Amino acid sequence: MTIRTPAQIPPVHRLLAQAAGLVAEHGHSLVAREAKALLEQVRADLLLGTAQHHPGDLRSALAQRVHSCLAPHLRPVFNLTGTVIHTNLGRALLPQDAVPAVTAAMLAPTNLEFDLAAGQRGEREDAVEALLRQLTGAEAATVVNNNAAAVLLTLSALAAGRECVVSRGELVEIGGGFRMPDVMASAGVRLVEVGTTNRTHPADYRRAIGAATALLLKVHTSNYRVEGFTASVGEAELAGIAREHGLPLASDLGAGCLVDLSPYGLPREPMPQDMLAAGCDVVTFSGDKLLGGPQAGLLVGTRDVIARIRRHPLKRALRVSKLTLAALEATLRLYLRPESLRDTLPTLRLLTRALPDIEATARRFEAALARAAGPAFDVRVMPLKSQIGSGALPVELLPSAGLQVKPQAAKGSGHAVEALARRLRSLPRAVIGRVADGALLLDFRCLEENDFDAFAAQLAATHPAP
Ligand SMILES: *Cc1c(COP(=O)(O)O)cnc(C)c1O
Repeated sequence: MTIRTPAQIPPVHRLLAQAAGLVAEHGHSLVAREAKALLEQVRADLLLGTAQHHPGDLRSALAQRVHSCLAPHLRPVFNLTGTVIHTNLGRALLPQDAVPAVTAAMLAPTNLEFDLAAGQRGEREDAVEALLRQLTGAEAATVVNNNAAAVLLTLSALAAGRECVVSRGELVEIGGGFRMPDVMASAGVRLVEVGTTNRTHPADYRRAIGAATALLLKVHTSNYRVEGFTASVGEAELAGIAREHGLPLASDLGAGCLVDLSPYGLPREPMPQDMLAAGCDVVTFSGDKLLGGPQAGLLVGTRDVIARIRRHPLKRALRVSKLTLAALEATLRLYLRPESLRDTLPTLRLLTRALPDIEATARRFEAALARAAGPAFDVRVMPLKSQIGSGALPVELLPSAGLQVKPQAAKGSGHAVEALARRLRSLPRAVIGRVADGALLLDFRCLEENDFDAFAAQLAATHPAP
């Protein structure tokens, strides 16, 4: 019997009585709320004539609603996009060492702000500051929620109500709505642009400095590069100009890698320690880009400038949680043993993964993916280019390998590729690739051995629509 009129819709209490097992397992509140919502949905469907319902289906529909309420929204996926530090997929994978550190901080009281030796209130950032000083040679360091917050705080503390001088070539938009001119405005800082998009000279800065100037800022143009007829003023020269005028110089590095990547065969990114050595008073960078740790904004610099930054009221508003500090401390500690960093830091491991290893992984899953995609698709191993991601080294691509899944029929191929991409995304652990040139590309750089079985099981469980 199909439910055809509102009068045939069972009352909530009857549906709940039929779902007694569900109520026993998950409690009355949640199940009753979902039962009401379900019955309202049935009523709406009847009135609109959009769907039919059978009384016997209601119990399983209710169970589905309850389970989907309880299923976590945030869950692991397979990142086969080829972008290693993918902002939309959570950026850096944290090192194994961070896991027990975070778990312990979650489950037991900690000495977060308690000095165990003195038996009194302590500083929550002591451990992380000591590590950052050791690793960068900075006099002082502090930490906030993300690098955007670090920039906002720096501007607010050093230049609110006054002027900050920046090259026109460095007024970047980072993505996610973070535009340097807007951040300046929200910090109450007047932006003074100097130079042109492609060329800025020392004289441009000198001319712009006046009585209202509070700060000079260098921004690492992390997500694009100006090539050709270009000129910019390096940190060392700019630090000289800042000192002549008694002004602080800030550098926003963005990715801020703590080790030289060139011995690993990667391009060299400027490091915070380089910026400090060049004379910057404060350097800001992210914790979850090349550093490979949790989301955080790190600030290293002179004792004086970091103290001014710490004293600003925004610092309290932007402070990090004990979980972030636990993960960050564990990550930074790995840098004390740089020789083993390739093994201990997933970000570095993925960025430096050997090409033959990636190719072997792609070949390993070629047949299984062909079965999962179905006879309408050709699957083949392809050389691909991975990206580092998060704006780090935007122009550099890493040789990689993966599978190209291409519809055999040219007609309707765009639709077929989208449908396949959607099917892979709807797996219990979503598989996320990228679509390019009428094919789905799966880059295997970020699929490592510990996930092989889970990935294979998923492919085995998905079948082409008949
Ligand atoms: C990424 C980036 C930021 C923002 O850092 P988040 O950690 O994402 O907040 C700021 N400046 C630059 C140059 C960046 O590359």
